[in-house]
Amino acid sequence: MDKITWKCPKCGYTFEADASQAPPETCSMCKEKCQFVNVTCYVPECGFQGQDPRLG
Ligand SMILES: [Zn+2]
Repeated sequence: MDKITWKCPKCGYTFEADASQAPPETCSMCKEKCQFVNVTCYVPECGFQGQDPRLG
């Protein structure tokens, strides 16, 4: 199952979710309504650490 790493642009909170799931409208960390950014690592350059540092 593919995972997507989402990041809240307001507080930096990241979490993984199934690719079939849409991110929540509200961040569970800062409780703000935010548009989660997909920061999933897709390339070997970032070491497959789950998050691409160029995006995070
Ligand atoms: Zn947040």
